[in-house]
Amino acid sequence: MVVIKSRVNCYQCHQPVEKSETLLVMSKGLLKLYQCADCYKIKKPQGYFEHRKGFYCEKCKYKFSSKKPVCPYCNSSERLTKSDVSVHDLI
Ligand SMILES: [Zn+2]
Ligand SMILES: [Zn+2]
Repeated sequence: MVVIKSRVNCYQCHQPVEKSETLLVMSKGLLKLYQCADCYKIKKPQGYFEHRKGFYCEKCKYKFSSKKPVCPYCNSSERLTKSDVSVHDLI
């Protein structure tokens, strides 16, 4: 005897997962999007937006990376320019 389990495809990794272990993320008419538990964990925005940006303070001639565009030396953002930290800068 075959037990037919209701399986759906995760809309992100496209893996067939058991419906009971998925999250219904969108339901629009006949279109239903399911997300598996694994993708749900990965997709959590926690830590995702903590991308640090590189800045350079012309006043202090100091290069730093921070989430906030404020120089840690002079505590101002007046003379800040954006700088992308490259391998060249590290030499
Ligand atoms: Zn998935
Ligand atoms: Zn400064």
